[in-house]
Amino acid sequence: MSIQFQIEASNGVGRVGRLITPHAVVETPVFMPVGTLASVKGVPQDLLEDLGVQILLGNTYHLYLRPGVDTVRRMGGLHGFMSWDRAILTDSGGFQVFSLNELRKVTEEGVRFRSHLDGSSHFFSPESAMEAQIGLGADIIMAFDECTEFPAGRERMRTSMELTLRWAERSKRYFEEHAHEVPWGGGQWPVAGGREQPASGRFAPRNDHGGRSDVDDHSGAMDPDATQALFGIVQGGTDLELRKESAERTIEIGFPGYAMGGLSVGEPRDLTQEVVESTLQHLPADKPRYLMGVGTPEEIAAYAALGVDMMDCVLPTRAARHGLLFTSEGRISIKQARYRNDRGALDPACGCRVCRRYSRAYLRHLYASNEVLAQVLNTVHNLSFYLDTMRRVRHSIPLGEGTGFLSGVSSQPKP
Ligand SMILES: [Zn+2]
Repeated sequence: MSIQFQIEASNGVGRVGRLITPHAVVETPVFMPVGTLASVKGVPQDLLEDLGVQILLGNTYHLYLRPGVDTVRRMGGLHGFMSWDRAILTDSGGFQVFSLNELRKVTEEGVRFRSHLDGSSHFFSPESAMEAQIGLGADIIMAFDECTEFPAGRERMRTSMELTLRWAERSKRYFEEHAHEVPWGGGQWPVAGGREQPASGRFAPRNDHGGRSDVDDHSGAMDPDATQALFGIVQGGTDLELRKESAERTIEIGFPGYAMGGLSVGEPRDLTQEVVESTLQHLPADKPRYLMGVGTPEEIAAYAALGVDMMDCVLPTRAARHGLLFTSEGRISIKQARYRNDRGALDPACGCRVCRRYSRAYLRHLYASNEVLAQVLNTVHNLSFYLDTMRRVRHSIPLGEGTGFLSGVSSQPKP
């Protein structure tokens, strides 16, 4: 068994559930912070635990280049390497390679690309992307896909979608033959900071999710036969018919969860929403649905209310490093001079450790002085804001309430 997905409550199309992964239980809908290089930039793992982060995303392309899959595999996979025993998801590398633009060449076999680090030449195929993700050992891994660019003509969108479908079959075939190679049982990783590993050398999912997470009742050792879960990815560009066909044929191949890829690549936001809303209707209700690479706090709340269970985005962490902060009163650019003498909390409605302790004046000073602490505190707040947003959505869906963020962006039935 790789994962189980239980829907606990629903309201219209929105639903609240539990995604039981080999390492931990994840409450859905969930926002997954991006830890590209096995690190959420500037935030240590114990702090992520305190914030209630339930699942992290790692980027296969980056980890493959540095430190390399073998290094991570020898440390027991990402969980052992980065000392994180909650859930992890890795992308397939397809989107990252897609982002290289001039540095890649796509063929039926796979993608030849040049490293953004040193220009060296590499090749990803569905098989090698699976091999890398099995070595990295995330709980959930993604089929290798081609992310269709925007804008693209219909023929191009169809050709690209067909390629993704053939790659999905190859991804699944390779994964099924090699799933047992996941490095969870190695027990070769160091015991860090006095933390004890189970005697079996395998992780036991912890139930001390700390902070304000509501997870409290998943305990017991990890199933020794547990394997990763491979999700399929729906493509088809911005064409609703192609998205429907892609969904149906990806479901035919058969995966324990389905993602919508190829969005947030430059298309207008209302088109993203149209594609998501339409595609969701063609995905099975009893499987987790993952919208990749989206979006603002308003958007993640809206998509959760539409029935999306998982989302990831670099926005809260990347914006934080540029001094752009999300608050209940809108966005704040903390570098502005108007905050120089502002004694107020960054967001008076936010209960995070940054807002409880520091003034806007101090945060502005840190940012203006290029202090490392500015990036840490800004990231902690933005992540808290995103996680709180999803917590509110999880609480509001069973109560049949709107999420409060959804003005004009929802088909969520109002009670
Ligand atoms: Zn805060």
